[in-house]
Amino acid sequence: MNVTIIRNGRVIDPANRRDEIADLYIGDGKILGSKSEIRNAKSEIEEIDAHGLIIAPGLIDMHVHLREPGFSHKETIESGARAAAAGGFTTVVCMPNTAPVPDNPGTIAWIRDRASAIACVNVLPTGAISKNLAGEELAPIGSLAQAGVVAITDDGHCIQNHELMRRAVEYARMVGVPVLDHCQDYNLVGNGVVHEGHSSTLLGLPGWPAAGEEAIVMRNILLSELCDHHIHCQHISTSGSVRLLREARDRGVKISGEVCPHHIALTDDAIQNFDTNYKVNPPLRSQNHVDALLQGIADGTLSILCSDHAPHADFEKEVEFDAAPFGIIGLETELGLFLDLLVHKHRTIGISRLIDMYTVAPARLLKIDVGTLSIGSCADVTLIDPELEWTVRIDQFHSASRNSPFDKWNLKGRAVRTIVGGKTVWKL
Ligand SMILES: [Zn+2]
Repeated sequence: MNVTIIRNGRVIDPANRRDEIADLYIGDGKILGSKSEIRNAKSEIEEIDAHGLIIAPGLIDMHVHLREPGFSHKETIESGARAAAAGGFTTVVCMPNTAPVPDNPGTIAWIRDRASAIACVNVLPTGAISKNLAGEELAPIGSLAQAGVVAITDDGHCIQNHELMRRAVEYARMVGVPVLDHCQDYNLVGNGVVHEGHSSTLLGLPGWPAAGEEAIVMRNILLSELCDHHIHCQHISTSGSVRLLREARDRGVKISGEVCPHHIALTDDAIQNFDTNYKVNPPLRSQNHVDALLQGIADGTLSILCSDHAPHADFEKEVEFDAAPFGIIGLETELGLFLDLLVHKHRTIGISRLIDMYTVAPARLLKIDVGTLSIGSCADVTLIDPELEWTVRIDQFHSASRNSPFDKWNLKGRAVRTIVGGKTVWKL
């Protein structure tokens, strides 16, 4: 038996309502119940001192773009997985806006094979809802589920035809996968690139109104009720979306929402110098929206944290604001930003709730067998130093891209070691 003992850490395992100072025993890649289960330790026992650290289930980021197949100049499954490990993540869920689009079992098989051959963390694919993400014809959702997708989504795109979306949700229900949706009404948003309000007027850039997100959040609430199936709204950015989700969840509708760190760390004020590293979709909003997101996190309306890690090469981002692609990288800064902002600065939530939002909440939604330290489960573990003060240095990132607005930010709290299946894949 290959044995690792992590000593004297604060074990926080929300799935089992556990929060105590303890040792964690790992044998042959699985969590052991106690020291007595260690049998015939083969080689030397690896001991890790976790004094002052949190021992958490391996974190899950259920919204990343790994850009393969098709855009390996931005990121690869291999580099994206290394960035994930360096951010404290043991499982990532990758989005389908690649070339070819995973709207068929063959492309899903390619992603899964590539990931198992080369990725140092678990990479779980999503399948497209519509063929080629065109929003016109459904992808073969049953075959995608058989091929092993954990969800379906057209992320980056949004199906505008409500009847088509209804059928997608009905098929997804039949095959037991959740639907993730990038909420954007194309008519309301038009060619908008920044939040419609003070900054769009000041900068003379086309506005992306809050209602452009809220109209589709509302649509998804109605379809979730109609089809009795879970729809998860991606990267929620507006106060109206939070209000709609809160009201629907109170009524028991199977709807949920996630938050990305940039939508609470920044406002549309940041765009004044036209730096395209502040161009994201949905856009950075005004302070009243940020406050509503914090409230939504505090009261549980928003239940999942993620990055929307969206790598782009320098030559793609270094163009005028209108023409630049949307998106920023996030895997290596998200945990630090959320710890710094939600736990330390704003005291929105405690650390065990933060871990819940990164482990058991996405695991339950996607029905995946990770996100806990239960005895016998796979030993995916993240060690976190919640007090460690550090400075973001994008030149040291593992991601293949550098499009982050957080370079040189001083943050408090980060992952210090990432363990996948009992093996350390990254440490500080
Ligand atoms: Zn999106």
